[in-house]
Amino acid sequence: MSAGREQVRVEAAEVVADRVFAAASSRVVAGIIAALNERSAVSGIVHVGPRAVTNCRETSLVWAGLLQAVDLAAYERYQATPSAPMLVPGDDHSLIPWSLAGFAADAAEWGADVVFSPSGLVRVGDSHALAAVIEASNNAEGSRVVTTVAVPQEWLTRTHRPRLLRELQHSTRPVALVVIGQLDPYEDPEVAQGLLDVLDACPGKIFHHRTDMTAIETLGRKGLAASIGVTTSLRHTIPPGRRAQKRRRPARSRRPLHVFVPGITEFRDIAELEAWFGDDAPECALAGCCARPLTSFSHEAGDTELLAVHNVRGWLPLAEDLIACQPGDRRNWLRQHHLQVETAYAELRVETGVRAIRPYGSARVWSGLGV
Ligand SMILES: [Zn+2]
Repeated sequence: MSAGREQVRVEAAEVVADRVFAAASSRVVAGIIAALNERSAVSGIVHVGPRAVTNCRETSLVWAGLLQAVDLAAYERYQATPSAPMLVPGDDHSLIPWSLAGFAADAAEWGADVVFSPSGLVRVGDSHALAAVIEASNNAEGSRVVTTVAVPQEWLTRTHRPRLLRELQHSTRPVALVVIGQLDPYEDPEVAQGLLDVLDACPGKIFHHRTDMTAIETLGRKGLAASIGVTTSLRHTIPPGRRAQKRRRPARSRRPLHVFVPGITEFRDIAELEAWFGDDAPECALAGCCARPLTSFSHEAGDTELLAVHNVRGWLPLAEDLIACQPGDRRNWLRQHHLQVETAYAELRVETGVRAIRPYGSARVWSGLGV
């Protein structure tokens, strides 16, 4: 399958366009791959982290047809500077010095269709480092490179936004944008507006990487592609050395466990679902999925695997439905989607008698930003 693809020069943008990927940092379980494979025309996997190449290779040995990308996630441990925008891997016992072009050229060997550049995190306001990140990728040979731009959310605020837009416009490659914040970045309307401005300024260029259902907003508003994390830490990238917070609420003794809730189309902690439904949670009705009550998942090994598959099967049909829409109709699709979610919330309040159930702050921001 990849042999045929190599005969023509295919640009990275063409390869990833109009897809919502699953982002995974460990070996991807067979159930997730099977779910993605059912919708392989609109999806694929981005392997994230230091083991990305190994995980990609392992997956491609078993599932050759699935579209795969590799992101070493250098921005998690390295800060870009104007003179060293990328993290060059340490001694790999090779006589030839590491280069982005060489890295990209090896990709086919591990079964990767595209590679993300190993760019460092760009400090707030460091335009020179940002320019260097983009230039390094622009200058590399190879058509399968996506430029990784990992930025703290402050870059999207009014103060820094103009410089971010200017530099992104200089990119001749698709840009994998990773927005880093302590809380959900898009709960802040200014940051959400910043993302919209980026999508407007760079239509068809932004791959919104490592996000949650915001992926749907991006695809509906001129984004090139997106990835939704298989785990919480891949849906919400936090500053190095910090812990993610979704909401400021009292500490719990139990580790959170996030479940995709169809209808309201959000990932919710199981403790919230227990508070809503008690012992009477609805069963999963997603086609080909688990048929389990939504509150029945635990941290046990078999369960976490089943939950991971459920969480991917949750958003895949939604992504497929949106992507089937002509670009010109997508805003209308989004509008309808927001209305359906609102209705699902209203029904949920009636059904449970819990009047305090509300969408996440970011979902309210997206609905309010109009489409
Ligand atoms: Zn399910």
